Amino acid sequence: MSRKDALVGLTDEDLTSTVAAAGGKPFQARQLAHWIYKHGAAEFDDCRNLPNRLLAALGERHTVRSSHVTHVDASDDGTRKLLIELADGETIETVIIPDGTRTTLCVSTQVGCPVGCVFCASGLLGVRRNLTAGEIIEQVLHARDRLDEPLTNLVVMGIGEPLLNLASLVPALARIHDRDGVDMGARRITVSTSGYPERMRELAKTEHAYNLAVSLHAADDDLRAQLVPNAKALVADIVAAAREYFEQKGREVTFEVVLLDGVNDRERDADVLARSIQGFPSTVNLIPWNPVDEIEGCERPLPESVDRFAEELRRRGANVTVRRQRGADRSAACGQLRILAER
Ligand code: SF4
Repeated sequence: MSRKDALVGLTDEDLTSTVAAAGGKPFQARQLAHWIYKHGAAEFDDCRNLPNRLLAALGERHTVRSSHVTHVDASDDGTRKLLIELADGETIETVIIPDGTRTTLCVSTQVGCPVGCVFCASGLLGVRRNLTAGEIIEQVLHARDRLDEPLTNLVVMGIGEPLLNLASLVPALARIHDRDGVDMGARRITVSTSGYPERMRELAKTEHAYNLAVSLHAADDDLRAQLVPNAKALVADIVAAAREYFEQKGREVTFEVVLLDGVNDRERDADVLARSIQGFPSTVNLIPWNPVDEIEGCERPLPESVDRFAEELRRRGANVTVRRQRGADRSAACGQLRILAER
C-alpha cells in the first residue's frame, strides 16, 4: 500500500491545491492550516469547523502529520527527550529544555550526521537522509502537544548539520516563524552550523534574520580538522562568513566550543580563538563535553579548567558564557542525541 502524504510542511500554495483537489475552497485551506499549526490538530477529526465530506476526501490520500512520538525520556532537571519515528521507520530525537520563563526546543535536521565530530553521538552512524520540512516542523508540534506553557525558543542544534539541508530548513523555519504558522519570532530561533561558509552566506540571503551559532570547537585549523573531520573550511573563512552574516542580518553571532580536557582548553587555544574572532560583536559559548559511552579518548574538563579557559578568553576581550549541562542523565544533553542503529 502506498504511503499517504502528510499536510504539515506543505506551502500555502500546495495546501490550497491539495484542498481544491479534495473539493474544498481556498478559505478552507487557510482554516485547515489554522487547525494544524495553531490548534495542533494531529488528525482530520480534530479540525472541527470543516465539512466532514472534505475531511474524508483529504483523508483518502493524506495524513495531517507523518511522524509520531514513540518514547519520552524525562530528566530530573525537567528536560524531556522525545524519540520520534518517521514514516519510513527512521528515528530522530528532539529535546524540550525548560529554564525559568523560557522553554526551548532543540530540533534535528537530518537522520544522523555526516560531519563526524569526534566527541558527538549524532554522527556515529553517519547520515542516512535529510529530514523534510514537514519532519522538522512536526518536532515543534509534537513538543507543543506536551507543554502546558508556551514554547518560547527554538535551537536548530539537534542531530545533523542544518546547513547541509537548507532546502528543508528554510521553508520549515519560515512556517515556524510565520504568524499563520507556529508564530515564533526570528529572534527566538537560532540556527547552528559546524561551519560551511557558502551555506552561511545562503542563509544570510534568506528572508528572515535568525540567530546564528557557529560550532568552531578550535580556532587552529589543524586541531579543528581533528575534531570536526568532515567540515573542511578554514577557520578564517568560517569567521569571515559569520562576520558577513552579522553585517547583513544585524544578529550577534555565537561561537560554540565543546571543551575537551587537555585538547582544546589550553591557554594557547584561548589565545588563537580570541584572536580569530576579534573585531565584531560575538559571544563564545563554552560547552564542557557531555560523555557518550562509545566515545573514548575524550574527557570532560573540571569546572575550574572551564573557568580558567573562560577567564583567558575574557582577558583577551571575548564575551564568554558557559552552557549549563541539561538532560545528561537521559543522554539528552548537547552531543548526546542519536538515531537508532536498527530499524
Ligand atoms: S556536533 Fe553537530 S555537526 Fe558535529 S557530529 Fe554532532 S550533530 Fe553533527
